[in-house]
Amino acid sequence: MTAIPKRFRVAVEERADGKCEGCGRIAPLELHHRRFRSRGGKHTVSNLVALCGWGNHTGCHGKAHSADPPEGWAISQYGKYDDELVPFQAVEGLVWLTADGRRVLVGDTPF
Ligand SMILES: [Zn+2]
Repeated sequence: MTAIPKRFRVAVEERADGKCEGCGRIAPLELHHRRFRSRGGKHTVSNLVALCGWGNHTGCHGKAHSADPPEGWAISQYGKYDDELVPFQAVEGLVWLTADGRRVLVGDTPF
């Protein structure tokens, strides 16, 4: 398994600004692959979110790996869309995660 390229890690951490992208809590954050690595998920800015919690067990990271994750937190391996085109339920609402590291509310145009 390859490591997340530093520039992508930095872009996601800057987007999160120290707060969990799922709940807004200021907490130690882990990068989560929305399309899991086991489902072919890539280390891209639009596929990664910074979530509170530990591993696949606690906090929002645990929720992302639960049986009933919020929208866009666990992308089906069968989805035909790019990760960039799957909205994510963020703390401020449903957003697009753009390839250039922004969260854009669905309804606003990201492109
Ligand atoms: Zn959280």
